[in-house]
Amino acid sequence: QYDTQALQALDSAHFIHPFTDHGDLATRGARVITRAEGVYIWDSEGEKLLDAMSGLWCVNVGYGRKELADAAYQQMMTLPFYNSFFQTTNVPAVKLAARLASLAPEVDGRSFQHVFYSSSGSESNDSNVRMVRRYWDLLGQPQRKVIISRLNAYHGSTMAGASLGGMSGMHAQGDLPIPKITHIGQPYFFENGLPGESEAEFGLRAAGWLEAKIVEVGADKVAAFIAEPIQGAGGVIIPPATYWPEIQRIVDKYNILLVSDEVICAFGRLGHWFAYEKFGYKPDLVTFAKAVTSGYIPLGGVMVGDRVAKVLIEKGGEFNHGYTYSGHPVACAVGLANLAIMEREQLPQRVRDDIGPYLARGFEKIAEHALVGVAETCGFTAGLVLVKNKKRRERFAEALGVGMMCRGHCFQNGLIMRAVGDRMIIAPPLTMTHDDIDEMLRLIRQALDLTQQELHQKGLI
Ligand code: PMP
Repeated sequence: QYDTQALQALDSAHFIHPFTDHGDLATRGARVITRAEGVYIWDSEGEKLLDAMSGLWCVNVGYGRKELADAAYQQMMTLPFYNSFFQTTNVPAVKLAARLASLAPEVDGRSFQHVFYSSSGSESNDSNVRMVRRYWDLLGQPQRKVIISRLNAYHGSTMAGASLGGMSGMHAQGDLPIPKITHIGQPYFFENGLPGESEAEFGLRAAGWLEAKIVEVGADKVAAFIAEPIQGAGGVIIPPATYWPEIQRIVDKYNILLVSDEVICAFGRLGHWFAYEKFGYKPDLVTFAKAVTSGYIPLGGVMVGDRVAKVLIEKGGEFNHGYTYSGHPVACAVGLANLAIMEREQLPQRVRDDIGPYLARGFEKIAEHALVGVAETCGFTAGLVLVKNKKRRERFAEALGVGMMCRGHCFQNGLIMRAVGDRMIIAPPLTMTHDDIDEMLRLIRQALDLTQQELHQKGLI
């Protein structure tokens, strides 16, 4: 019942899309997504697609959850909005903050009793920059301003978020990074491991880049290190097991704040409410967004650990920072309802004990495909590298756009899978059944076969 061409014409006339080549879009026309249910989405032509990206790392509880719509409706009718500036608060914001505090595990006596709200991951990371610098100011060390991040990390799209992120394309277009943000290499073994080096050795070496950078900058100038537990948007880059313990040793040694950006990793994706628990490190601040509401409504924030909260609150005076929608009552009501679903259906445990291992077994088979250099899973997310020669681990030239070629075949065949350079990644809803997973694996194999055929026909392999 949709006039696809008319919608596409309106789209190209009026909608500037994020992260999109509009020349390319104009020739193809945007695919108009009209509805969703469970783990599937439909377009305006009635085509059904299996959404192996959960919208964009968001819809952990799947689509079509009436409880979330009801929570939004009830809250809109009761109190659709009031700000939380100055000295007012609201019921869902208070309850959600307490709920999140109870879900964030305490490590070595460090707990998270406080939440700072925003509407997105990007805003939350901007807030992190403000908070870590404020922390050191209040402690009488205002020279501690530098924040260390990693190449190919994604921390959002605001000026600070994109600066913290290590994506060269974003830096090039925004005259970034802003001052006092600097980067180290990523713990990507397939790309950066040396011949003969074990994964464990590489993990220690990659963590050592942090220490080298701290020494280079001067420890007394460094405010914080920020990192994702696993790099999501960068292509599901899973660090070796030795990496995080060594990072923890280094931040402790130099007394540097540790920020864990869990915008995609928190709320069950890696089998835990928060991912630092999985890797056993002790962050001071934890960024969240996306899956806190399963993407049904924008909400983000920062879990503020005791160390930072104590200083901000006890020594702070007024913290001159915040957003109109910090603690938005409707978003927080949906967040509460979403966490209730996740808890009732035990989604983090389900990832740990059931669907995570099931996906891992499926990916062991995918790894055997001639086009796949390495395939790896972590919780309920996975990535694979497309290679020209499996034995020699030879990669395709970047300009070939092999990932986008594979994505095109997925898209044609009813599967949403994301391409990041030559890596293909998935992060499906945590509600997938074994049958859904089997179907997804079948579609991935089919896309790999079709990509292989296309490359063969073009004489590229
Ligand atoms: N941090 C990470 C780790 C992310 O993956 C993202 C979004 N993909 C962001 C921050 C930014 O979040 P948002 O798009 O909600 O601003």
